[in-house]
Amino acid sequence: MEFLPTLIAQYSEEHTTQEPDYLKELVRETHLKVLMPRMLSGHLQGRFLSMISHMLAPKRVLEIGTYTGYSALCLAEGLPPDGKIVTLDINEELEGIVTKYIQKGGFEGKIEYKTGNALEIIPTLQEVWDLVFIDADKINYLEYYHLVFDQVRSDGWIIADNVLWSGKIVEEVKTNDKDTNALLKFNKFVQEDPRVENILLPIRDGLMIARKK
Ligand code: SAH
Ligand code: CA
Repeated sequence: MEFLPTLIAQYSEEHTTQEPDYLKELVRETHLKVLMPRMLSGHLQGRFLSMISHMLAPKRVLEIGTYTGYSALCLAEGLPPDGKIVTLDINEELEGIVTKYIQKGGFEGKIEYKTGNALEIIPTLQEVWDLVFIDADKINYLEYYHLVFDQVRSDGWIIADNVLWSGKIVEEVKTNDKDTNALLKFNKFVQEDPRVENILLPIRDGLMIARKK
């Protein structure tokens, strides 16, 4: 399901700043060489993440789910001079492409990329996060939220991607799809969590933004 009428989506893209050339190149290389290129954030959502990063100027960002690095590179754009992103992915095969584009973007000192299972890595990270971007396996979204929550500073943010799951989240026929059910549970939990204020933005596949009170 596309959430926006095609012409509105197109017009929005046309009135959004272009991404830098190295990100266009990363999109091309991802489509040529990597499975499931649709997972990459892309132009509109990427510019949104870049804008958020410029607005919040976060010093410590955790990204769960690097894939080929597109969203991490967007989030890196607004970091202050002493800012840093830690980005995690379980798929070691993507290492070559991720490190290549971190270099092309000139973010070697700013993006720390770790491969492994995020569920195991997160508890070993001794940081206080200003911003956490959850974008890995949907089944563990709530687990990631719980794992990071105490390490997010008060007035910090948690953003979760794909929370509308191509519209499956509102389909009337209840599915047995594990991912859809996990996302329904996640969205309900955040909505009822008195520790946060949250907004579900229907950008691309749906972004849940929560601010820790
Ligand atoms: N954030 C990227 C897209 C991420 S796609 C972008 O917007 O461009 C989701 C990624 O989560 C995949 O690369 C997958 O390998 C990773 N992933 C899935 N399960 C994981 C886990 N348990 N730990 C860490 N990464 C995981
Ligand atoms: Ca995503």
